[in-house]
Amino acid sequence: MEQVYNFCAGPAMIPAEVLKKAQQELIDWNGLGTSVMEISHRSKEFVVVAKQSEQDLRDLLSIPDNYHVLFCHGGARAQFAAVPLNLLGEASSADYVDGGYWAHSAAEEAEKYCSPNIIDITCEKDGKRAVLPAAQWPLSDDAAFVHFCPNETIDGIEIRDLPVTDKPIVADLSSTILSREIDVSKYGVIYAGAQKNIGPAGLTIVIVRDDLLGKARAALPSVLDYTVQVDKESMFNTPPTFAWYLAGEVFKWLKSIGGVAEMQKRNEAKAKVLYDYIDQSAFYRNEVHSDNRSLMNVPFQLKNPELDALFLEQAEAAGLKALAGHRAVGGMRASIYNAMPIEGVQALVDFMVKFEQDNA
Ligand code: PMP
Repeated sequence: MEQVYNFCAGPAMIPAEVLKKAQQELIDWNGLGTSVMEISHRSKEFVVVAKQSEQDLRDLLSIPDNYHVLFCHGGARAQFAAVPLNLLGEASSADYVDGGYWAHSAAEEAEKYCSPNIIDITCEKDGKRAVLPAAQWPLSDDAAFVHFCPNETIDGIEIRDLPVTDKPIVADLSSTILSREIDVSKYGVIYAGAQKNIGPAGLTIVIVRDDLLGKARAALPSVLDYTVQVDKESMFNTPPTFAWYLAGEVFKWLKSIGGVAEMQKRNEAKAKVLYDYIDQSAFYRNEVHSDNRSLMNVPFQLKNPELDALFLEQAEAAGLKALAGHRAVGGMRASIYNAMPIEGVQALVDFMVKFEQDNA
């Protein structure tokens, strides 16, 4: 089979070693003569998967003991509703730091439940797209929490600052979780859809600090209620068991290569190869300032957009898949999540060099 590198923004690549193991285990898992998909989530065998995967994630992110780890359904968008409904209590406002498409979408959902204070932090720096430093974000005094999205998957913008606040910080880490080191103790709630750096779509990780439980609005659906999910160990309803099992295998893989610190090194090296090439080229450009460039999602444009279709067609034929930019912005986007090896990024750069030579 020809070597394919999949640059999809999500659902994204899963490490080949993990897929091979899952393939071997698909029909006969753990000697049970059945797959992990076909057993009860309450069986002793699955409970081992649930406990081990939680422990591995705790180890990978050094999650302190006063945080709960939940394995939920519904993707990040379910959390756009779950966060305000769980955390607002009697409050009527929360700060929504707006650095791009996904942070803005979270704020729009929150408008159903409160009056979010939407803080546009986007700016221009040296002619490039950037975000203001956290010290300049006008946070409000009456916010129940401060929500932000450290990696904007579509815009290719990464916010490395944390909000300067004593309010609980809520972060949508969907496209950056496990890609670089973070200090979980600085956050109130972290959530992430699994389909980029963790495993198959259908699973959502929620990490919630213990003191934030018990503030839920009465109308909160039980399935989104953090307290219910904590009490039921993420099994209030049937969890997405296969996605959970596969996430556990990805966590084991990540530990085996040296954990998040090693992953961060590899991700920095991968991103550097691509940005360095784009920056020296007169044929391609990336519009994000180097202070805010995403390690995970690299949007780039051809100087001549009339060549976009040809670029995508020839890239696809060369085994470089899913490079079209998001429909909201066009151009190209290479998502280079944890499972993308540096060889894939190098193959993309080699292709870009050749395409530039042929079409400049
Ligand atoms: N937040 C971010 C940062 C994302 O990248 C995405 C998906 N691309 C979402 C939220 C929405 O996730 P989901 O489709 O899992 O609801």
